[in-house]
Amino acid sequence: MQVEKVDTLVVGGGQAGLAMSEHLSKSGLSHVVLERHRIAERWRSERWDSLVANGPAWHDRFPGMEFPVTGPDGFPSKEEVADYFAAYAKMIAAPIRCGVDVKRVEKNAGRPGFRIETSQGVFEANNVVAATGPFQVPIIPAMVPAETGIVQIHSSAYRNPAQMPTGAILVVGAGSSGVQIADELARAGRQVFLSVGPHDRPPRAYRGRDFCWWLGVLGKWDLETRGPGMEHVTIAVSGAHGGYTIDFRRLAALGVTLVGRTQSCEAGVMRFAGDLVANVAKGDANYLSVLDEADAFIAANGLDLPPEPEARKIDPDPACMTHPIRELNLAEAGVTSIIWATGFSADYSWMKVDTFDEKGKPKHQRGVSEVPGIYFLGLPWQSRRGSSFIWGVWHDAKYLADRIATRHKYMEYHRTSAAL
Ligand SMILES: Cc1cc2nc3c(=O)[nH]c(=O)nc-3n(C[C@H](O)[C@H](O)[C@H](O)COP(=O)(O)OP(=O)(O)OC[C@H]3O[C@@H](n4cnc5c(N)ncnc54)[C@H](O)[C@@H]3O)c2cc1C
Repeated sequence: MQVEKVDTLVVGGGQAGLAMSEHLSKSGLSHVVLERHRIAERWRSERWDSLVANGPAWHDRFPGMEFPVTGPDGFPSKEEVADYFAAYAKMIAAPIRCGVDVKRVEKNAGRPGFRIETSQGVFEANNVVAATGPFQVPIIPAMVPAETGIVQIHSSAYRNPAQMPTGAILVVGAGSSGVQIADELARAGRQVFLSVGPHDRPPRAYRGRDFCWWLGVLGKWDLETRGPGMEHVTIAVSGAHGGYTIDFRRLAALGVTLVGRTQSCEAGVMRFAGDLVANVAKGDANYLSVLDEADAFIAANGLDLPPEPEARKIDPDPACMTHPIRELNLAEAGVTSIIWATGFSADYSWMKVDTFDEKGKPKHQRGVSEVPGIYFLGLPWQSRRGSSFIWGVWHDAKYLADRIATRHKYMEYHRTSAAL
């Protein structure tokens, strides 16, 4: 069988794979990127129709190219984001092959390198970078039995309100996906229940600057670890309708019924934790802390930005917060569908190398695995909070390219120097 030899093989042609390709090229390192579908496929086919980027175009991009259509302060649509990466791949002449599924990676026995089986033949590589995404496998908790007849989909399969069956909808999860989907459904006149867990909800903008700017200048995108107790805290932001601050009380005013974290389902009755008010209060505290830190930053640096005292106004609690629902009989409430906006897990079962923990999570330091030559890119919190986002992954790729170049140098010395 013919085996194609490459120095570095990058698996995945999303933003991570492209960033990796750019930095490998800049370091003069030969490589191939294999993508099973199209460039930035997940932006095209695993996001809802109306999705726009959560950050403005000046921020959510690679340094080497601006968004051609959306102005710097606008929010590019998901198709524009995908087109951007396709254009970027062209600009950097990325050696990317689409339609190639990587099925197995294993270490060569007794010699350096890896054997890679794909849908289009076998490769051998000195290095493999898994850039297959932070959000790979949709998580749907096994909670509501199929016999209930409730339609259940994951947020990655949600497209638009018309897709949902007639009746009320329960949206579980109040990160950026859950809140945006609940908002869209409510605006379309649908009856919505939204299950709210712990979250951060920074102001969309404050005193004339977007939250992406604030989190940047305040050093929050660069945080290297989640604080204690923050493991399950999601961020609720939206770029829809020109961008707006997520405010759960305003969602309630739109007609959304807020409930606490979803706990169980028995005989068609959903049970919710009694944490709704506490979760919203913690989200408020996070919101207000960003305003405080922004004010302090403005004062400390003498910035000329207009005061915005009205940003501190918090509306009174709606009835669904003063009298929270702890149980919901789905049939009686007319709920016919559930959208699980409950996140994703990873699947590295195709990587037969010994660098995973008992939960299947990569063991690594800033993307450098325990097996020399195996790297990961685009992981959540790979090196910092921004790692899984567009601008963050570019910097992590730069670091990995540097590490690969260094490893190359050692191997090159070994190849060229005479044995002692
Ligand atoms: C709803 C949503 C909205 C988001 N909005 C923003 C935003 O506004 N701004 C921002 O910065 N970030 C955003 N993100 C986060 C992040 O930017 C995206 O998740 C992004 O898609 C991650 O890029 P990636 O290249 O790391 O992974 P992916 O986009 O998942 O790319 C991985 C690629 O690998 C391919 N692949 C997987 N396995 C194999 C295999 N075995 N063989 C070959 N190919 C394979 C897949 O087809 C895929 O194309 C959002 C995420 C979600 C879920």
